[in-house]
Amino acid sequence: MKVLVINAGSSSLKYQLLDPDTEDVLAKGLCERIGIDGHLKHTPTGKDVFDADVDMPDHEAAIKEVLSILQHNHYGVITNMDEIDAVGHRVVHGGEDFTHSVVIDNKVMRGIRSCVPLAPLHNPANITGIEACMDVMPDKPMVAVFDTAFHQSMPAKAFMYAVPYRWYTENKVRRYGFHGTSHQYVSQRAADLIGRPLEELRIATCHLGNGASTCSVKFGKSIDTSMGFTPQDGLPMGTRAGAIDAAITEYIADQRGYSAKRVENVLNKESGMLGVSGVSSDFRDLEAAANEGNERAQLAIDIFCYKVTKRIGSCAAAMGGVDAVVFTAGVGENSATLRARIMEGLEFLGLKIDPEKNNVRGKEAIISTDDSPNKILLIPTNEELMIARDTARLVREMGDK
Ligand code: ADP
Repeated sequence: MKVLVINAGSSSLKYQLLDPDTEDVLAKGLCERIGIDGHLKHTPTGKDVFDADVDMPDHEAAIKEVLSILQHNHYGVITNMDEIDAVGHRVVHGGEDFTHSVVIDNKVMRGIRSCVPLAPLHNPANITGIEACMDVMPDKPMVAVFDTAFHQSMPAKAFMYAVPYRWYTENKVRRYGFHGTSHQYVSQRAADLIGRPLEELRIATCHLGNGASTCSVKFGKSIDTSMGFTPQDGLPMGTRAGAIDAAITEYIADQRGYSAKRVENVLNKESGMLGVSGVSSDFRDLEAAANEGNERAQLAIDIFCYKVTKRIGSCAAAMGGVDAVVFTAGVGENSATLRARIMEGLEFLGLKIDPEKNNVRGKEAIISTDDSPNKILLIPTNEELMIARDTARLVREMGDK
């Protein structure tokens, strides 16, 4: 089966065509500057890369370009559209309605729309991507895979904020959590690598990229996660503050004469590693600057590592122990230095990192010492594969009915 995975942003669209059974990726690519002018980078496996400006006035035009290049006689990987069996869409917010991936129909579209107030930037872009695909490929079955769905197994004591209860019942204020597809994927792979059933393991997964979150995956289910009502909660990130004292918002608005919206924007886009260091939101730049003696870059790294370390401790507390810690996403997969820093001081949890085994990047590995009672793993995330698998499974189930 071949599944086209679509991840639509407001002016971008990432895609991948893959076979979820063999895990072969036929092609992947990125449309950027949709609605502005348009740029397409298409990377077919084993063939020349296409990288050029292409006119894309809207998402529908972008999808048409993607389908056209997938069938192109030089850059293409399929001969006709019939080879695409289904389309899987990444959708950021599924609220409380979507606890699993679903085949998209009118009711599902209404459900995704009803989550727009919860994700006002992301869900509209995802909807645009789905609608564009429906217009261009009306006969293909489509599946929505939600970033929030994996965390719907959290118990109320984990997902509730201690605010007036009516904020939850009337305004939907609660923790939802994000990066669910990634946390789920890496926890499954961790169980495979360790060679024990997922249902027996307590795993702390650390998705550390531009956005960062940890998840307590107990016996295969998310029981807690660091992101909350929005991706702003929890860890400090590239440009996001992470969890802060809510009173700071009004205080700083008064002090600096900012509107609430401006404060929110600063907390989202000008805080985190960028805000503290004044150098960059990118950990590569921060590590380079810190190595040259930049104290604020070093401080940003120190804050980040300290908070991740503490989060792993809280995962252990939430699960009554931790059998494995998993690192994934840009920082988690690539920075041996940060992984080592984060694990410093966690030996009391039976987690001993092996400096040699940790000297690896971007590939699956167990990086704890052989005598470490619990395991530390590096697992590159693969949200596209997860989306393609869910899509294939649901489309097959639909066929069986
Ligand atoms: P996103 O959340 O945007 O998907 P990624 O998971 O791709 O982000 O992570 C991107 C981040 O990963 C970059 O901002 C950078 O800080 C970090 N990163 C990538 N490579 C390295 C590296 N070699 N060393 C340290 N950090 C890295």
